[in-house]
Amino acid sequence: MNIAIIGAGLSGAVLSHHLQSDHSVTVLEKSRGAGGRLATRRQDNLAWDHGAPYFTARTPEFQQFLEPARASGSIVDWTPTISTLHRHQKSYKRLWFEPHLIGQPNMKAWLNDLINPNLLLTETEVLGITGAAGNWFLTTNNSLQGPFDWVLSTAPAPQSEGILAPFLPELGVTYAPGLTLLATTTHHRAKWQMAICNDPIVDQIILMSSRFGRLPGNPVVIHTQRDWAKAHLEQPLDQSKSQIEQAVKSLDDLEITQGILHRWRYAKVEQPAAIPFWIEPDLQLGACGDWFGLEGAESAFTSTSRLLIALKEHLMH
Ligand SMILES: Cc1cc2nc3c(=O)[nH]c(=O)nc-3n(C[C@H](O)[C@H](O)[C@H](O)COP(=O)(O)OP(=O)(O)OC[C@H]3O[C@@H](n4cnc5c(N)ncnc54)[C@H](O)[C@@H]3O)c2cc1C
Repeated sequence: MNIAIIGAGLSGAVLSHHLQSDHSVTVLEKSRGAGGRLATRRQDNLAWDHGAPYFTARTPEFQQFLEPARASGSIVDWTPTISTLHRHQKSYKRLWFEPHLIGQPNMKAWLNDLINPNLLLTETEVLGITGAAGNWFLTTNNSLQGPFDWVLSTAPAPQSEGILAPFLPELGVTYAPGLTLLATTTHHRAKWQMAICNDPIVDQIILMSSRFGRLPGNPVVIHTQRDWAKAHLEQPLDQSKSQIEQAVKSLDDLEITQGILHRWRYAKVEQPAAIPFWIEPDLQLGACGDWFGLEGAESAFTSTSRLLIALKEHLMH
């Protein structure tokens, strides 16, 4: 079967990994590489993991799937020194109560190991679909791709709804946006490597030096609070940047220099869908992703695994 997979984040990489040996798979990804929201940005010899800072693997299925990556060292436990920060109170230490996983040497490298690079079309944004079951075509920013027997979308729910309209029904999913500052610090005297902040603006501050194998320098990732990001998403980026910098200063003696503000329109699911995945066997269309639950990467994996089980039955005919 000719199968198109839209998106090369965790969900698209897992689909490709399972389907590419028995089928002719094409993965269409709008950005420059795989990763999606398991993201790393490099600039001027610095690197920031500016999407999900970590993820958990609570189900035996996800744990088992990650075993090869853990054995090879491309997924590792992240054990930073953690502190909780308040503006006018003393900080206190915190501990993790379960493993928190990160990719090594960056968040997304292990996803590249799952996708055959010859099948990945990058900088290819899917705009819409035409045709019929068994004969689908995808219009993209630079070409017409197809024909495909099946099309599977792993883009965030609102984007999948747009691409697969009018076939994919409204899933009723809402995402919280995010504003993330990628900065560097010149002198850091604090005793923590990750700060969880009790603050109206700043949510988490993460020193990238707490992650083994990262590029040198002192990159810091600062995630803002969900409600603050919602209220300030469209405000000029420079204004948001200086408000975040001020907030960081009042939380700790962390001198920040250089900053790139990243706007996430779809960061984390707020209202999940009522269904774990979507498949329409008569149309030969499907969709999956983290929109199924509130567990981020783990929800994306579960949704994808369930779509694969449902799909198997139809791909055998
Ligand atoms: C700031 C932030 C913090 C987070 N914190 C956590 C956390 O602590 N723990 C956790 O588990 N998760 C967290 N997450 C969520 C986690 O990153 C996601 O749940 C997970 O990465 C989703 O994977 P996915 O493959 O389903 O979606 P994505 O990673 O979004 O992948 C979808 C892919 O589709 C591509 N795409 C979209 N539209 C098109 C199109 N039209 N054509 C072609 N390609 C397209 C995108 O570029 C993307 O690569 C966080 C995310 C963010 C942004």
